[in-house]
Amino acid sequence: MNQVDYLRISLIDRCNFRCQYCMPEGTELDYILKQNLLTNQELLTLIQEVFIPVGFTRFRLTGGEPLLRPGLVELVEAMASLPETQDISMTTNGFLLAPVAQNLYNAGLRRINISLDSLDSDTFNQIIGNKKIDHRGRSQWQNVWDGIQTAYQVGFDPLKLNVVVIPGINDCEILDLAALTIHKKWHVRFIEFMPIGNSELFTGKGWIASAEIRQQIRDRWGLTEAEVCGNGPADIFKIPGAQGTLGFISQMSECFCDKCNRVRLSADGWLRPCLLNETGQIDLKTALRQGVSMTTLREQLQELLTVKSEINFKQRYSGTTTGNYSRTMSQIGG
Ligand code: SAM
Ligand code: SF4
Repeated sequence: MNQVDYLRISLIDRCNFRCQYCMPEGTELDYILKQNLLTNQELLTLIQEVFIPVGFTRFRLTGGEPLLRPGLVELVEAMASLPETQDISMTTNGFLLAPVAQNLYNAGLRRINISLDSLDSDTFNQIIGNKKIDHRGRSQWQNVWDGIQTAYQVGFDPLKLNVVVIPGINDCEILDLAALTIHKKWHVRFIEFMPIGNSELFTGKGWIASAEIRQQIRDRWGLTEAEVCGNGPADIFKIPGAQGTLGFISQMSECFCDKCNRVRLSADGWLRPCLLNETGQIDLKTALRQGVSMTTLREQLQELLTVKSEINFKQRYSGTTTGNYSRTMSQIGG
């Protein structure tokens, strides 16, 4: 059986963007009340007393937007200083990254994924559902770009850029985005668009298969296979001579459930064994607050891991359904 040792932790379900594919405008979201968020201390207790003893050593901080979480740098520092932590990383939209990138690095964060769906400010605004500029008169895109540049200068490595390809919106930029890997050691990862919490958007040709994206790039530059870096399910390639790599995450066109090495913890403490299946969740926050013993929680987690392979969704997109997921990616912790 595949070893499950990777925990994705959602620090907050709120976000400063409303990406069309994640939190489409008009979708009513019941945000978690502040008192129901796991505190930093509760998170650390769960990591140290429950997850690490059961074998977890790799952690990713995500959301919602993790940079909105108060006390983030302190949390990273505490997690990174645990001797058992082999890897700690973060997925962010990058909007608030530039001013805190150095502090996060100093706290022990070394790997970062930043979402960047477009190089064009107008398209970017269309995707993130926000046309505002900040108090200094700069566009949202510019702030994200500054965050990427700062993270690169600070030394985050690998620095990955996540692109969700949406037909008719940003698919015309596939080559431009892929070209970012040529001169800088940036790793661009194309993610197939999933029908989670966004079924209205997911009509007609709702997603583009990785194979099609890869072929476009191969036709332009050629592609060679490259070494995998990180814990993810991406197939990794390289434009010949490029400094960075190209990753393809094909959860719609392929099923990689058999290789799944992760579970997810939501910001309100629900442990979820599979992104696409709500079966088997454990309410760790309530258990912790009711004083359930750590031994019991470890046993429950161990039990969940033994049945995880049966819970895993194990289906690829059939082309006939749009999925029926009651939570959006921002709520689950993508
Ligand atoms: N706010 C952060 C960000 O955008 O990077 C972290 C949370 S976000 C939910 C994590 C990742 O999930 C992002 O890379 C985002 O592009 C991806 N994502 C969200 N909704 C998706 C969907 N419907 N299909 C595929 N990827 C999605
Ligand atoms: Fe926010 Fe990330 Fe979801 Fe976009 S993908 S709405 S940035 S949580």
